[in-house]
Amino acid sequence: MIEIETPNILGIEFWSGCNLRCTYCPVSDPGHKADEMGADMLDRLYDYVYAHPPQILFLQCGGELTSLKDWVGKTQRFMDLQMPHPTMQLGITSNLQKRLAPEEVAAIARFNYFLVSIDAADEDLQRAIRPPAELRNAVMNIAKIRTHCLAAGTEPPIFRMNCVVSDRNARQLDRVFAFAAALGFKEVYLLDVDETVPHGADGPRGLRHMDDETFLAVLQHIQAGVPKLAANGITFTPAKNFWHTLMLRANGQAADHRFGPGETKVCLEPWTYAGFLANGTVAYCCGGIQDSGIDPAWPIDRQVNCETVRAVRDGLLAGGAAVPERCRTCAFAEKGHVRTLAGQVADLPHIRPDSDRQARSMTFPWTIMPDSAIPSYPDLRTERFRELVPASLFTMPRSGTWYLFYFFEFLDALVSGRPWIKTIHGFEDYPSLGFFKLHMHGIYPGFESAGHPDFVEKWRGMNRDDPAIDASRGTIQQYQDVFCPHLNERARVIYVYRNPLDQIVSAFHHKARHRVELGIDRDRYQTAQVAYLNEYARTEGIDLFLAQFMTFDHMRQRAGEHLLMIRYEDLMADPATMFRRMLAFLGADMDSPERQAAIARALEITSRDQMREFERMRGRSLAGDRGEAGQSHIQSGASGRWQDVVSADTIAAIRARMAEFGLDLDSFLAIPQAE
Ligand code: SF4
Repeated sequence: MIEIETPNILGIEFWSGCNLRCTYCPVSDPGHKADEMGADMLDRLYDYVYAHPPQILFLQCGGELTSLKDWVGKTQRFMDLQMPHPTMQLGITSNLQKRLAPEEVAAIARFNYFLVSIDAADEDLQRAIRPPAELRNAVMNIAKIRTHCLAAGTEPPIFRMNCVVSDRNARQLDRVFAFAAALGFKEVYLLDVDETVPHGADGPRGLRHMDDETFLAVLQHIQAGVPKLAANGITFTPAKNFWHTLMLRANGQAADHRFGPGETKVCLEPWTYAGFLANGTVAYCCGGIQDSGIDPAWPIDRQVNCETVRAVRDGLLAGGAAVPERCRTCAFAEKGHVRTLAGQVADLPHIRPDSDRQARSMTFPWTIMPDSAIPSYPDLRTERFRELVPASLFTMPRSGTWYLFYFFEFLDALVSGRPWIKTIHGFEDYPSLGFFKLHMHGIYPGFESAGHPDFVEKWRGMNRDDPAIDASRGTIQQYQDVFCPHLNERARVIYVYRNPLDQIVSAFHHKARHRVELGIDRDRYQTAQVAYLNEYARTEGIDLFLAQFMTFDHMRQRAGEHLLMIRYEDLMADPATMFRRMLAFLGADMDSPERQAAIARALEITSRDQMREFERMRGRSLAGDRGEAGQSHIQSGASGRWQDVVSADTIAAIRARMAEFGLDLDSFLAIPQAE
């Protein structure tokens, strides 16, 4: 049994009343009674949060806070807890229907996350689904909040649109996505209608029960809309149950509620969430695990570790027949192995220490920030970021992406003394090193506008049918003035590339073993691997390589001191020299003995053996992308392995294709020796 010191996300429902009567919400039930949380409970929650700050404090987890009388006065002291706990984030969900007074706008501007409930871009439809909502109220309030932040010079909250999908709005999701972009939302979060709430015969139908045509419309809108959202810098984050249900129905599958030995739901919610409702109930997940029989006089610590939730934690960790009934049918979590869940639980911050964890923490003293707690991009145009060097670090698939990520992540943790690390790369903020970085697979930032038009045209005609070639496109488009050297003098670009033959071979195997289908026929991979690899290398692999590499090579001269190109082979042969070169290129001051020691320690932690141990400890590969349990993301990294499998004909074809771009294959193949 594992207890927690505090949930990662703690929600407080100050009151359960609401100013709307949404067609799918239990609050619309005529028998619904609005409760307000008692002063004594609020006092105890305040003391608890003061002593045990969660990562995110949600000041409302149900009801509509802004419709509570004097809500600003009642929540003020909780917001002020950010002073003693500056890393604690504040979140709120609101329908933004009330005409906000200036002091309310100022209060909302202090939140880090602002979740706005909007189901439609059409005023009549929004009003019909969520009567008597008026879209103009939400639009005006968002404008007021942004205006306040601009005038005060503060960062606005990260706005997320929460959209409940049903047969009512399914055919207008494209408009909802466009509306989110028009209003400057950073995230769009789709939820399925909660069908456990009785809606009556005329109630809205969710993904499972809407008719086929309507369901098809949802699929089509998502397929067409997600790339557009990305192009506008908006993250698409469907609720887990939404995605799960969507995929099952799209693939004509039924959910499997049977659990064999060792199988469980890989769900961290009972360890990471507690929502204190106004009526005294405590909720422990989105899937409906809650306890309404809790004695409000119990200490909060006992409430977050009450018997109900402990039984769920134990059942999930035991797996098989012990998986709790509610979890079996819950679409919020995927089936997996208990080992995977146990590894993830052990990595959580705020788990009450036990001997196992203490032993491990001696060698690995950082807690791991769960992926779900990683905030989206902050606004990179604020004063704080203007003082740092904007770096972008690009790699080819299978060319040291994770090695680079973890080196810088551990180095910054060592230098800054922060007690946690994250395990997903994308945007990293390293003020102690003097830079922030975008870290992805991608082409040279701004290539399409700064490259020679003839060459860009030729490049556009190449096979680029692999999302990994240019995964950073949306972010770069959003922040061209930050990351593109031709628009920002301070921008720095690092590109790590590998010899094309090893890169193609490694990427081919990686795609075949990836947990997601990536265009490799797995039957053929099993039966005729070498022939298949050679065909792939000639027809696809080399063009995918060139489609990325050539953008950097083409810009090399113009970029001058803004671009540092590093060979993967050199990095693997002499990481100390290469990482120091990168740090110097980014202007990081690493001269002091302490910082030199931090570099040495980061190199040690990211050695192949220690990273394998790290994978074993977490129960997943570094990238979390391997198809089979126990597979590692860390391969030997050795150069020249292509020689065992790539035929002379394939080499000749690749050589000829590269020559069309003025490249000499042999210049990539020299194997360096460590300095
Ligand atoms: S009911 Fe669902 S969300 Fe809740 S603990 Fe079980 S699997 Fe997780």
